[in-house]
Amino acid sequence: MQGKLLVISGLSAAGKGTVAKALVEKFDNYVLSISATTRERRGSEVDGVDYFFISRDDFKKRIDGGDFLEYAEYVGNFYGTPKSFVIEKLNAGINVILEIEMQGALKVKKVYDEAVLVFFLPKSAKVQKERLINRKRDDESQIKKRIQQAIIDAEYAKHYDYILVNDDLEDSIKDMQKIVNGTYDKSKNIESMKILDKIVSDIREEQNV
Ligand code: 5GP
Repeated sequence: MQGKLLVISGLSAAGKGTVAKALVEKFDNYVLSISATTRERRGSEVDGVDYFFISRDDFKKRIDGGDFLEYAEYVGNFYGTPKSFVIEKLNAGINVILEIEMQGALKVKKVYDEAVLVFFLPKSAKVQKERLINRKRDDESQIKKRIQQAIIDAEYAKHYDYILVNDDLEDSIKDMQKIVNGTYDKSKNIESMKILDKIVSDIREEQNV
């Protein structure tokens, strides 16, 4: 049995990273793909754990060598998914999680139609803002930018197979397992889309955009 390729994206502070980490820690049939990037390493990040930090030259060579399943430029830096790791794990029956931005996600779907695209949302604009403030990673102007970015990112949700509202970690883990074994009720996407519309309209109202 082939593993499933799970591509997860979502609004800022939707908590997708936490869900991915929990799946990998809880079950031995999930693994996270480690991307290559040309961006600088941040504080506590470890090479080979968080990313493979490589130079632009190396990145270009790897593009030419066909090493990436997909790659994208994002705020001035390159990010790519190493192909061989993904193929090896899928062939071994392990589900591979890619936590990547939306253009990359759509590229993956193009080259690998069996990929399952999951878009994560926070429960509300209020929860998103609280999470962004509480995680203390960004200053006020960066938080504002991330919130505004959500209006643009929301446009991509319709291209995803599943839209999950990440309100409770355990529920999200169960939802992901149902998605993997094909028992998730897809009609729930309609409810999630309504929540996404409300988030976008609340952001627009608060930020006057
Ligand atoms: P950050 O620099 O904050 O770690 O990541 C910036 C964005 O790049 C995030 O949305 C992250 O999900 C995305 N990203 C990380 N790795 C990859 C990758 O291999 N390919 C693509 N397309 N995006 C990635």
